[in-house]
Amino acid sequence: MDRSYRVVVVGTGGIGAAACYWAARAGVDVLGLEKFPLFHARGESQDHSRIIRLAQHAEPYASLAPSAYDAWAEVESEAGMQLVVKTGGLVIEAVSERRNLDTGTRNITGYTEAFRAHGVDFELLDAAETRQRWPQFRFNGDEQVIYQRDSGLVDAARANAVHVSLARAHGADIRAETPVRALHPTARGVEVVTDAETFLAERVITAAGAWTNEVLPAAAPRLPLLVTQEQVTYYSTPHLSEFSPTRFPVFMWHGRSNFYGFPVYGEVATKLGQHLGGHPVTADTRDFVPDQERIDRQRRFIEEHIPDFLGPELYTKTCLYTIPPDQDFVVGPLPTDPRIQVFVGAGHAFKFASLLGRILVDLALVGTTTHPVDGLGLDRPALTNPAFVPTYHV
Ligand SMILES: Cc1cc2nc3c(=O)[nH]c(=O)nc-3n(C[C@H](O)[C@H](O)[C@H](O)COP(=O)(O)OP(=O)(O)OC[C@H]3O[C@@H](n4cnc5c(N)ncnc54)[C@H](O)[C@@H]3O)c2cc1C
Repeated sequence: MDRSYRVVVVGTGGIGAAACYWAARAGVDVLGLEKFPLFHARGESQDHSRIIRLAQHAEPYASLAPSAYDAWAEVESEAGMQLVVKTGGLVIEAVSERRNLDTGTRNITGYTEAFRAHGVDFELLDAAETRQRWPQFRFNGDEQVIYQRDSGLVDAARANAVHVSLARAHGADIRAETPVRALHPTARGVEVVTDAETFLAERVITAAGAWTNEVLPAAAPRLPLLVTQEQVTYYSTPHLSEFSPTRFPVFMWHGRSNFYGFPVYGEVATKLGQHLGGHPVTADTRDFVPDQERIDRQRRFIEEHIPDFLGPELYTKTCLYTIPPDQDFVVGPLPTDPRIQVFVGAGHAFKFASLLGRILVDLALVGTTTHPVDGLGLDRPALTNPAFVPTYHV
């Protein structure tokens, strides 16, 4: 047996890197193991930007959102680097397009109820009012729009690198290209098997994204996770100042499809993606080939609704979602061995990444957290009842 650690984190994507940081910052002996080179592009976390917003249409995300900002602020303060860029944010609902769709609470009513419940300031606008303030948009006329000023983006690539650097500064041992081959629970601790060494962990946190089921111990039940191959496209708009972060907000457009967009950031280009537009894959069968149909669909959407956002395609980048059947995160101990905490992000976790790392460390070390993650455990029906009908609201 090689070294023992109080905590071993499996996977150093957005959430695992954060867990390494919060554990090391608490003075805990932590080892982070990553299958690929650090900051690789095969997972879910590696790009310039991810939307962050208080605008949430469901619990517990509406409750977690303010603490997510607080966690990022603490990291920014320690690093002396900006990670969150507030641009303001729009949630736009194309009402007639959505009339016959089952949208759950992912609609203006769901968002406004959550805002009111949490005392968050927001503005409800119609199409004409929105266009007056952001003439970059073209509307059909029946859209309903929410503006919330605290929305913006997290610089994801930078945030991951900052979590890793600060974790190391606090003494974390983080090893790239070190895949975990097996977790063996024993009476002395959890054996974490890699090709060269086997470590003994008092506690394990798995944040392995699309590889989660491969990483869990053989005796643990498989989680019903859908992995999809998503993509985003950067456009070299010639209209840079109209789309700068001070003039153009991040937005979600809930129509028949759900598009989300960013101002010019990270590249000299705007960025657009389609939420849940991707096809099912596995972590190993996915490819890196952009889907032309989605590129065309996005272009048609932009031509109709934000024409100056367009420019020559700079590049399209693929990425994975790992989604439980109820689209909620998985956060909690493995029922077969509570020394192992499991995390899965459901395609919307980055905004919460630092906070989630902190929560997972609390769950691992103290067994509880003050944050409302009780309903996200592995024992919920969506994960345990094979008859559970998946609900993928777009
Ligand atoms: C296109 C796209 C847009 C998105 N937009 C947003 C957004 O705007 N806002 C938002 O909040 N969220 C967004 N998300 C979701 C968010 O990015 C993810 O939920 C989040 O990044 C998940 O991070 P993770 O650490 O769980 O997974 P990952 O980043 O995939 O990390 C898992 C890591 O585990 C490693 N690993 C796997 N197996 C092993 C092993 N055996 N041994 C060691 N390491 C292992 C992997 O190599 C990987 O590095 C988006 C996702 C995509 C794809």
